[in-house]
Amino acid sequence: MEEYLQSEMPFSNRTLALLDVINANGLGLWEIADNIINLDDKTSEIIGMEGNNQLKLDDLVNFIHEEDRQELLDTIEKITSNCGESGMAECRIFNQNDKNYKWCRIMGKSYLDKGEMVILGTNQIIEGRALEIYNSMIEKINRELNRKDELNKCIFDITEILLSADDAFFDKSFQDSMEIVARAVGLSRVYVYKSHVIEGILCCTEIHEWAEITETTMGKDFTTDMPLQSWPGLGEELYQGKNYNRLIRETPPEIQEMTAPGNCAVLFTPIFLKDLLWGFAGYEWTREILFNGDETAVLGSVGLLLANSLIRNDLNKNLYLAVDKINTTTIKAEVLERYAYTDALTDLYNRRHFIELAQGPLEKAKRFGTSCFAMMMDLDFFKKVNDTYGHLAGDEVLKNAALVMKNAIRAYDLLARYGGEEFVVLVSDTAKEDAINLAERIRESIADSPCIFNCIKIPITVSIGIAASFQDCSIEGLIDKADKGLYKAKEAGRNQVVFIEE
Ligand code: GH3
Ligand code: MG
Ligand code: MG
Repeated sequence: MEEYLQSEMPFSNRTLALLDVINANGLGLWEIADNIINLDDKTSEIIGMEGNNQLKLDDLVNFIHEEDRQELLDTIEKITSNCGESGMAECRIFNQNDKNYKWCRIMGKSYLDKGEMVILGTNQIIEGRALEIYNSMIEKINRELNRKDELNKCIFDITEILLSADDAFFDKSFQDSMEIVARAVGLSRVYVYKSHVIEGILCCTEIHEWAEITETTMGKDFTTDMPLQSWPGLGEELYQGKNYNRLIRETPPEIQEMTAPGNCAVLFTPIFLKDLLWGFAGYEWTREILFNGDETAVLGSVGLLLANSLIRNDLNKNLYLAVDKINTTTIKAEVLERYAYTDALTDLYNRRHFIELAQGPLEKAKRFGTSCFAMMMDLDFFKKVNDTYGHLAGDEVLKNAALVMKNAIRAYDLLARYGGEEFVVLVSDTAKEDAINLAERIRESIADSPCIFNCIKIPITVSIGIAASFQDCSIEGLIDKADKGLYKAKEAGRNQVVFIEE
């Protein structure tokens, strides 16, 4: 090299030293003078003509890729058209030995040597055109960023779905989430195993699955408990919080058995609840490659999200059950309480409660030396109603009579169903005449308000016995007295009021 330069171009030692540095840095050297290209060994090697260091300028194009020729010629034209001009071209140079092109960056500059124009330049093998390399790098980075974006987005999407999942349609939301993950990552199967201890052994059961082809693996064993140790190697890694990321063909047969036919790689990510292995998520795809770092990171989080929503849904379910239980207990107590006080058919107080409630007004009357009045009311020929129209019609007549009585009395009078077709009213703070008038009003209202049942008018009347309380009388004694009046009213032909004097 040195000899060549010295013989053809009498450079200073300093220039020669510089050219050595250029050569040592992997650059080839060349020079054009008199339409001949002088090549250094490095450059001759590129075109595969070792030992021959001269090339006709016209022959140069034969070694340049067709698509790059014009660029190189234009650059030479530019350099030669103006002395002192420099230029650069990137082109593929043909190697006649291995019949391949290699990308080279060729730089040159024209200068005057003893009145003649000479062009001197360097060349360097490169990986490809700089812009193309740059573009393909950008494209690769973009692809990776898009993939990252897509993976992150699927986390956001399923978080949104799972958080807003209506508990009634939870399974559907859960299934949708698994499908979104599968589509974003390119999976053909996603599933969740939940663990629980059976007789001291940690067992796992598949509880949810989404599969591209749903016919797979949804067999009899779908919900069978399997000891975690029945899958060799899996438990050890999961316990340590590690992902199990394998090509399926490299896993033990027991694991191959739990994966779906046609899938090539599987990823299991552990799901921990505090320090306990709550379960694990499984992901499979048909690609013959392992899951990369981004995918395992995202799918690890997905497993946690899925488990989290399952736990939340379970808690909600239990909460609803508990609330339901509280509600039914409360309702039951309320209903029982109502039944204890009232009669189910007429919704009036029952006899027992009437007797309890009547004590107050009776005692008050005794204290003030006044009277309260009891009315015993018995529907007339009621048996005939049952016999004629049936028991259901009889019930309606009883309900109707109760309603009519309720409307006839005043708010503070005490009305109750005493039994069968017998009713009782306790009237207090009232004069005798007013009490009798009230009884009369009830009797008239009943007679004027026949019950309509199945479009049939069922007339009914009532007989009423009425009595005033007396000093030392009990509520039973008062009712007895009123009952005597009732008996007399019946005897006298019914549909009338009989007041029993002292
Ligand atoms: P009286 O005018 O003498 O009172 O004649 P009555 O037919 O009304 O009297 P009786 O005591 O002979 O008959 C009462 C009937 O009331 C007998 C019973 O079957 C009927 N009864 C009692 N409770 C109910 C009920 O809750 N529903 C119906 N449908 N019938 C009832
Ligand atoms: Mg009776
Ligand atoms: Mg009767």
